[in-house]
Amino acid sequence: ERVMEAMLPYFTQYYGNAASRGHVFGWQANQGVEQARKQVALLINAEPNEVIFTSGATEACNLALKGVFEMYAGKGNHIITAATEHPAVLDTCRHIEKLGGDITFLPVKHDGLINLVDLEKAIKPKTVLVSVMYANNETGVIQPIKEIGIICKKHGILFFTDATQAAGKISVNVEVDKIDMMAFSAHKMYGPKGVGALYVRRKNPRVRLAALIDGGGHERGIRSGTLNVPGIVGFGKACELGRIFMKEESERSRKLRDQLETGLMLTGEVFINGSIEHRLPNTSNIGFKNIDGEELLIQASKQIALSAGSACTSATLEPSHVLLALGIDEAVAGSSIRFSSGRFTTEQEILYTIDLIKDLIDALKGKLVAEEKWRNS
Ligand SMILES: *Cc1c(COP(=O)(O)O)cnc(C)c1O
Repeated sequence: ERVMEAMLPYFTQYYGNAASRGHVFGWQANQGVEQARKQVALLINAEPNEVIFTSGATEACNLALKGVFEMYAGKGNHIITAATEHPAVLDTCRHIEKLGGDITFLPVKHDGLINLVDLEKAIKPKTVLVSVMYANNETGVIQPIKEIGIICKKHGILFFTDATQAAGKISVNVEVDKIDMMAFSAHKMYGPKGVGALYVRRKNPRVRLAALIDGGGHERGIRSGTLNVPGIVGFGKACELGRIFMKEESERSRKLRDQLETGLMLTGEVFINGSIEHRLPNTSNIGFKNIDGEELLIQASKQIALSAGSACTSATLEPSHVLLALGIDEAVAGSSIRFSSGRFTTEQEILYTIDLIKDLIDALKGKLVAEEKWRNS
């Protein structure tokens, strides 16, 4: 609601085009955009002119990967990424492969983290970019971003991170973490859908990018097209709120998450997928042993919003590529569910969820026993 309030005037009163430099209506819209740029930059400790607004994180990932691949073609064609990335990165890398790119998809350890020694070993003379996500969207697992940044700096390679799940939830600092480019999105932090940003470092080093979208030269020529002014204003507000409430929210969230996990542990053979230590405070990916996970998900989803993997791939029923990359076997991956809480989740809702899952598991187990009996009779 606070975000929407900030956006509303930009649909009506300040309807001007932010790129119209010749009149007051344009200036008003531009002011809204520039204030948002500051709010976004402040969240990640960047300079406002290092923020390029896009239609979301998918576009920002495409821009970073394809933009570097094209711009640095003279230096090399090798990109290193990880097996657990979001499709916005994985599918873009596969596309680049078809264009002549050489891509290394690093495996991850059982806890979901990449091995830093493997990363350094994978670097070749033709490596131009390392792309490793900040926090995973299915497991919440947080990669050793700063250490990756240091390795990239040492070898003079650009470092891009998809921080869509981290920005606004945990402290993300492009200077401390030595990040050269970073994608993130408004709708993952209570902002509007259809707007996001790519952070592009301007010094030490100055990153150059080929544009994906050519045209009127908006966003320093990197992303042409009339800006989504209300969306950008909302994104700015969401970043501001995310920054202000981050500390208390992450504490609150962590408590709810632990409460949920403790409660679910009592329902039977339940385990947490991915690192328990290095993960977001609000995400829990839970495997249920000896349970028809798909049925559990279908039944529970009538009352709470849960998912087997990410919303971005939930159209396909294949087991999660993220869980498979952690070495979890297909049956267990298929009976794993991602739970995440948000800023407005209450303790009551957590207790409700635990009860619901307990009841469903009991019902499903009863069904299994009945089927077993029937088969044996
Ligand atoms: C949601 C998400 C994306 C895609 O973001 P959009 O703004 O929906 O394009 C990319 N990466 C991660 C990790 C995500 O969680």
